[in-house]
Amino acid sequence: MAWFTKVRKPIEPPGKQSRVPEGLWVKCPSCGQVIYNKDLAASLSVCTKCAHHFRLSAAERLRSLFDGDWVEHDRGLASTDPLRFTDTKPYRKRLDASTAATGLKDAVITATGRIDGMDAVAAAMEYGFIGGSMGVVVGEKITRAIERAVAGRLRRELKDVITRVLRFGAPGPRAHASPSAATAT
Ligand SMILES: [Zn+2]
Repeated sequence: MAWFTKVRKPIEPPGKQSRVPEGLWVKCPSCGQVIYNKDLAASLSVCTKCAHHFRLSAAERLRSLFDGDWVEHDRGLASTDPLRFTDTKPYRKRLDASTAATGLKDAVITATGRIDGMDAVAAAMEYGFIGGSMGVVVGEKITRAIERAVAGRLRRELKDVITRVLRFGAPGPRAHASPSAATAT
């Protein structure tokens, strides 16, 4: 009589394992292609095989748009929920849940950066924040972004005028115009 009994299990092939660690790649939901995150970022979140567009967060959108770093504006602006609006659940709860999920106070990021070397103000909506819902804060931030862009342009034009006055003694290209051209205008 044997002291031990050995239960023999049939030898099974090991499960199909990826050679790429989880988290380094994503699978395209459209064509099933496995894409490295690094390659996906390089292609601006478009599948290199089937051109499926992955969803971009607002920050990713700005990252793809600006040359480098940008300065975010009005990050602390948050809704006080003055209407105390409720549909299937209170708006306040939706705001809190979206803030917890995205780290944002509302559904838009506005920022100043450079696009192809030019100063620019841009606004990107965050779908993860109540589906990019346009509440009072979104309206206010976009308005401020436009005002900031206009003010920046005016400042730049004013700076150009001052520079021309200092260099040529008069604003604008007329400082270079010949007397005949000047009288003709
Ligand atoms: Zn694809």
